[in-house]
Amino acid sequence: RSLPHFCRGQVVRGFGRGSKDLGIPTANFPESVVDNLPADISTGIYYGWARVDNGDIHKMVMSIGWNPYYKNTKKSMETHVIHTFEEDFYGQMLSVAMVGYIRPERGFNSLDELIAAIHSDIEEAKIKLDLPEHLKLKEHHFFKTSV
Ligand code: ADP
Ligand code: MG
Repeated sequence: RSLPHFCRGQVVRGFGRGSKDLGIPTANFPESVVDNLPADISTGIYYGWARVDNGDIHKMVMSIGWNPYYKNTKKSMETHVIHTFEEDFYGQMLSVAMVGYIRPERGFNSLDELIAAIHSDIEEAKIKLDLPEHLKLKEHHFFKTSV
């Protein structure tokens, strides 16, 4: 497969559907980054490492897809960085290493179900990323370069 996949782009505004209100803000990549995904990267939930500008490297979960819950018509890449930021970082450079796959996309019957699924994705990401083979990617030269 094409993992790990490294990519970076300026954070753009999303659909303004209030992920932040759910306590799970998702930073959106511009279309150019989405278009550069390898063809064999399927839609679904991924985990990996993320960094805003030249800041610290944090764990992340990312959703790639058509967002069935919201019946979106556009493909998107949305990263939830597992860290509490003081401020929004729209327009700043987001660098991510996608290292593993959690599950396919799916629809949910309620918002509560969706939130519960995301929390379980976050827990899985936290555990998987502590494996030595994943931890070492924090040292990858991709994260050494200043943006
Ligand atoms: P949008 O629809 O514009 O993507 P969201 O409600 O999903 O709005 O919020 C995403 C924004 O929140 C990001 O673009 C970023 O600026 C900010 N943000 C703050 N903390 C985080 C975080 N931990 N992970 C991702 N984005 C965050
Ligand atoms: Mg978002």
